[in-house]
Amino acid sequence: MRQSELSTKTKKEYPKDEEAKNAKLLIRASFVEKLMAGVYSFLPLGLKVLDKIENIIREEINAIGGQEILMPVLQPKELWEKTGRWKTFNALYKLKNHEGKELALGPTHEEIIVPLAKKFISSYKDLPIYLYQIQTKFRDEPRSKSGLLRGKEFIMKDFYSFHESKNDLENFYEKAKKSYLKIFSRFGLKSMVVEASGGTFSKYSHEFQILSPSGEDTVVYCNCGFSQNKEICKLKKGDKCPKCKDKKVKISKAIEIGNIFKLGTKYSEPFNLKFRNKNGEEKLVEMGCYGLGVTRVMAAIVETSSDKNGIIWPASVAPFKIHLIELGGQKEEAEKIYLSLRKAGIEVLFDDRENVSPGEKFADSDLIGIPFRAVVSKKTVKAEKIELKKRAEIKTNLVKQKELLKIIRD
Ligand SMILES: [Zn+2]
Repeated sequence: MRQSELSTKTKKEYPKDEEAKNAKLLIRASFVEKLMAGVYSFLPLGLKVLDKIENIIREEINAIGGQEILMPVLQPKELWEKTGRWKTFNALYKLKNHEGKELALGPTHEEIIVPLAKKFISSYKDLPIYLYQIQTKFRDEPRSKSGLLRGKEFIMKDFYSFHESKNDLENFYEKAKKSYLKIFSRFGLKSMVVEASGGTFSKYSHEFQILSPSGEDTVVYCNCGFSQNKEICKLKKGDKCPKCKDKKVKISKAIEIGNIFKLGTKYSEPFNLKFRNKNGEEKLVEMGCYGLGVTRVMAAIVETSSDKNGIIWPASVAPFKIHLIELGGQKEEAEKIYLSLRKAGIEVLFDDRENVSPGEKFADSDLIGIPFRAVVSKKTVKAEKIELKKRAEIKTNLVKQKELLKIIRD
């Protein structure tokens, strides 16, 4: 894509009404724009990142048997009353339509998916079933100061599994845990599996946390692998680790980017979701649910991967693979390289803007944070080479065009 044709522009200054690093950088670099607290538009560059995040999630969730669906945002009050959550779910957006019928805007979809699954489950032969969606969720959050980390409107992947036994749920739960770790490592995020409160049906649920000072969660952990959310952990910093009984526990702020729960029969009970087992007996279906914050992942990457000049995207989700910059009237040569990169199927942003200084082009490139920067200038053309630099490094290299393709493909 030619930068001269990009409909959005980077900003000279950080937005004044944002405190969180993710919102400051994403707005200034023109990935998102704020509509109001906790509500953002995704611009061309931002949507590219979002699509890549979603596609990695799809690949991995499909690989463990997930089938994608899309459920409604508008949900009738009656379903929420069945589980008692119409009254107890504090952040639920409630509205009335012209007939006076009360509705909720979906913050999660247990109330919708259980009656939906009921239409297809009657026998043990129908189980297990794995369904997920990637969708916009709504929560009336009182605090919305963390940019995309805590939205009133945000995108989530929510995944629900239905099983004939606790044992089957147990096995799949471990499979989902591994899948999540793989997803987060593909985003370049070092995630930690943290024990959190489990509710009625299991001792613990599990959260996937990224250590970061901007996180809203607090995690107590030890290098031996012990980790618990502070909400359920009485240990203080420096206390002896209860698992290895050797080292002292550490405490850190963290960003929660995913959580998984063994729901058991919590939701199959109110909706009477049953099946006939091999002996012909009626049993309640065992359920698991697995959430992953898509827009929150985008914010977590920015929170943990940036420097004073801007964002540093991992290649897996970067809006483009390479930022090609033309300097000093070398249009013809730069154009040739641009076309050859496109022909080779490389995603390239080409800074072909006229009357923009080299300083501005470099500053924009650092701010946007594409993994590779390639410069075509008088000097490089004379040497019949291209100046290549990785976003995360300072060192530049002069490389031949042939080498360029090889390096950025690796
Ligand atoms: Zn330990």
